[in-house]
Amino acid sequence: MQTSIIGYPRIGASRELKFAVENYFRGEIGAGELNRIAAGLRSAHWQVQKDSGIDHIPSNDFSFYDHVLDTAVLFNLVPERYRALGLDELETYFAMARGYQGPRGDVKALAMRKWFNTNYHYLVPEIEDSAEIRIAGSKIFDEYEEARRLGIETRPALVGAFTLLKLARFTGRRRAEHVLADIVRAYQDVLQRLGELGARWVQLDEPWLVTDLTTEDIRLLAELYRPILSGKHSVKVLVQTYFGDVRDCYEELQTLPFDGIGLDFVEGVQSLVLLQKHGFPENKTLFAGVVSGRNIWRNRYADTLRTVREIRRYARDVVIGPSCSLLHVPYSVKHETRLPQDYTRHFAFAEEKLRELAELKRLLDSPNPTKEEAYKRNEALLAGPRCKPDEAVRARVAALTERDFTRLPALPEREAIQRDKLKLPLLPTTTIGSFPQTPDVRAIRAAYRKGEVPEEAYRRFIFDKIADCVRRQEEIGLDVLVHGEFERSDMVEYFGECLDGFVFTTNGWVQSYGTRCVKPPIIWGDVRRSRPITVEYAVYANGLTDRPVKGMLTGPVTMLNWSFPREDLPPKEIAFQIALAIRDEVLDLEAHGIGIIQIDEAALREKLPLRRSDWHAQYLSWAIPAFRLVHSGVRSETQIHTHMCYSRFEDMIREIEAMDADVISFEASRSDLELVETLRASGFRPGAGPGVYDIHSPRIPDVEELKAAIRKMVRAIGPARLWINPDCGLKTRGEAETWASLRHMVQAAAEVRAEL
Ligand code: GLN
Ligand code: ZN
Repeated sequence: MQTSIIGYPRIGASRELKFAVENYFRGEIGAGELNRIAAGLRSAHWQVQKDSGIDHIPSNDFSFYDHVLDTAVLFNLVPERYRALGLDELETYFAMARGYQGPRGDVKALAMRKWFNTNYHYLVPEIEDSAEIRIAGSKIFDEYEEARRLGIETRPALVGAFTLLKLARFTGRRRAEHVLADIVRAYQDVLQRLGELGARWVQLDEPWLVTDLTTEDIRLLAELYRPILSGKHSVKVLVQTYFGDVRDCYEELQTLPFDGIGLDFVEGVQSLVLLQKHGFPENKTLFAGVVSGRNIWRNRYADTLRTVREIRRYARDVVIGPSCSLLHVPYSVKHETRLPQDYTRHFAFAEEKLRELAELKRLLDSPNPTKEEAYKRNEALLAGPRCKPDEAVRARVAALTERDFTRLPALPEREAIQRDKLKLPLLPTTTIGSFPQTPDVRAIRAAYRKGEVPEEAYRRFIFDKIADCVRRQEEIGLDVLVHGEFERSDMVEYFGECLDGFVFTTNGWVQSYGTRCVKPPIIWGDVRRSRPITVEYAVYANGLTDRPVKGMLTGPVTMLNWSFPREDLPPKEIAFQIALAIRDEVLDLEAHGIGIIQIDEAALREKLPLRRSDWHAQYLSWAIPAFRLVHSGVRSETQIHTHMCYSRFEDMIREIEAMDADVISFEASRSDLELVETLRASGFRPGAGPGVYDIHSPRIPDVEELKAAIRKMVRAIGPARLWINPDCGLKTRGEAETWASLRHMVQAAAEVRAEL
């Protein structure tokens, strides 16, 4: 038995890469130092895989920002506007990732989207009519050779041709069929060069194959890979899929001349059935994903052994590995010294998964696996329930009825009541909630957590921050204010910490986009709220101003989606438990005079099943009710807002309406306001705040540009229900750019308002 890894986390066990890249952005270190730190990380990551006995170790899974962007750059997909800046290679790369504003010009970043149903974001490659597709980068070759020099044979990985074309945006008249020949040649060249360098295997990631495919898609797949694979090369090619099963193209994959096929047996509910029904080609290697690459619970060896035994009945040559790249889990449980053993022994992060694979490999090679120590230890760990149920919480969920999910009166009636009460101007301006978490905020929180700053001093600091933030929002003239979320390290972690049922890591960081990482909580047991969470902050801020202050909460679906969920309870049940806890907080805020409450569902779209047929049955049928459960108890004059990150909603507008919020803000600016067109075409009913500028970049939009965006929105959906806001929270931004941008936004809104 052999083992294989699809990708390893890259940010560094202590987020070294994040800090190095950020230092580089600030000009504190140069490219040389950045490259030195990156090489150190790559070497450490290869070494730990090698030391764990992994047989197939990937390279080129490392990235300074994003591996999809790396693939685009490899193939010379650098849009003209970035070339025109005349920057060097690395600077051009970062300009595409985060925009550029400086002496050489002013260009926005590429659009950013979520990587399938994960919280990782990739940059959307653009294929312009003028694009000349060919090998232009050397990263993939350099990293292969770098590992080689360290004595480690790796399998270079890159995004496959089909997925690349599916993810890319064609900005001109060309379409996939027009670039086919060039793409084929470029991939052929990569395979050939890697072969010449001595690589034995190359991994082409094709996660798009687990989505619903049309016959044209399947034709495209064949049109790409028949010639790519028949080119002149000496490497073996693995087509690696993950995040589901390949039911629509399994037969096609079998007949294409791949040397290896990577299938996901964890999330791919039909993978085994496909094998049973269609067998597996004798001359190919099956890379079987049998250890979850996305959740952090220990693998149950008995089950996995059974699965692999079944797989082996159909495939002669099997290699085991995780179900997807380990990019989506933290580095190692060994850094979690604060959590009691009773918890940590149930966790497997990236390093522990390497160990699990090593043990599974031994067990699979053993004539008598159940007699082995590793097997017995695993059985003992997983015997019996992990935690006791909270009977009161279970009973409360069981007693829910239709009424608990329905807010009355209906939206149109509420709209009139709220208009009279709030008396906001047309095009009201607001923000999404958080304000910059400057170094002083982070420093004092860290010190407070270490016990170096007393609670009272920490609280005083937070209250002062709130006061300052409210004063400055008033001063620039925002209409609906927020308290700034300074008490929160993270919108999910913070609420998780205030609720029972969650546990926290100290170092469990996972890359979200670029240098931004999140530390997902772990849902360990039943969830309940035992005390108010945000009330004192909201009430304090509200008391400082005559303008309305929005209360700011995180919704149940996002809490669930951005955590590592328990697997011993259905997601619906977990979501309803969280919803009831947040509902109590909503009612508390309302009772304390907070008239506008925003319940963020930033991640609602993210976990939408990849196959359309599963949308309702597996997800929306409980996710939308979970949100409704949170706010259905408020009075008609209380205005409920929600915020969703992400811009592709054209296919679920009715579901978003069914959440029954009064106002919804969306991320939109990075998709050329496509969303606004969707809102118009669908006759979207609630108030809407499509973000007018991109907060994921430090770039400051000017007033004219913002006015153009606002006018476009007004033209599309009219001014009556339009809100003006940035497209997400401002937590990760610097102070100067934030206030300058907001000032421009308020001014732009005022000027467009005057035109109406
Ligand atoms: N209210 C949150 C904030 O402003 C929302 C963040 C998000 O959508 N990711 O930070
Ligand atoms: Zn957002």
